[in-house]
Amino acid sequence: MPETVDHCPLCQSEISSLFDRRLFRGHQVVNRLCGRCGLVFQSPRMTPGELDEFYAREYRQVYQGEEGPTQKDLFVQHGRADALLGLMSAHGVAPARYLDIGCSSGILLKRFMEHFGCEVVGVEPGVAYRDYARKQGLTVYSDITELKGSADPRFDLISLAHVLEHLPDLVGYLVDLRVDHLAPSGWMLIEVPNLYAHDSFEIAHMISFSECTLRQTLKKVGYEVVALKKHGAPRSKILPLYLTLLARPATVAPADISIRPERNVALKRRLGMFWRRVLQRLFPRRAWVPIN
Ligand SMILES: [Zn+2]
Repeated sequence: MPETVDHCPLCQSEISSLFDRRLFRGHQVVNRLCGRCGLVFQSPRMTPGELDEFYAREYRQVYQGEEGPTQKDLFVQHGRADALLGLMSAHGVAPARYLDIGCSSGILLKRFMEHFGCEVVGVEPGVAYRDYARKQGLTVYSDITELKGSADPRFDLISLAHVLEHLPDLVGYLVDLRVDHLAPSGWMLIEVPNLYAHDSFEIAHMISFSECTLRQTLKKVGYEVVALKKHGAPRSKILPLYLTLLARPATVAPADISIRPERNVALKRRLGMFWRRVLQRLFPRRAWVPIN
């Protein structure tokens, strides 16, 4: 049975209101808006046990109709790897040890390994994708806890591309990564769908981030945001579908951080989706890049 989320996953407030209710591929999806910080989160949602089972087997079936990588998915992953590599280079990030959480078929890992000559490790809960990545010769674990006992559990770059929005305990997870796995001067690379341009409300998305709530999340868990980019790569040349962020461990203790609330979330969502429809109508081939 789904569980109700009583407290905001970011600020812990108990006050929230209904934000969106819809059917997503046969699943009822309900999102709520935190009355204090403006975070949009799914509630009720799958329990941790249901989520584990969902990601091991069902996730790709629900989203792609098959468990293993599809041509469309591989195309998107290659395009995303190019875009993320460009951002790394623009900020002078050159890792020696790189961890990709939710590494999928391992395309990003391979691209970074080839470009930087770095050591790479992946974490991927989906069985078919993990097997696919391992067959490419990559080291891929099913869960981050498998890294805890390893001789060198720290990395100078950790990426979560389209992962953060799936985490039921995003604050705890990000704190654990900083404390246990990120080198003190390491980099965090995060990409999530943008609430103000992406459909967002999917069964697997526990959180729907705006630029503001994403920044506040990173601040709260002890990171300093170095760069944040809104863009559509590789799916769109003009729609700001995604938020990509580069962060480092902060020098200020997380306890001293106060959250700046996001205001007018419903209005911003309506305007953003309206603008998306306008751009799609005016520039259809730039709004959605054809996938071969
Ligand atoms: Zn909140």
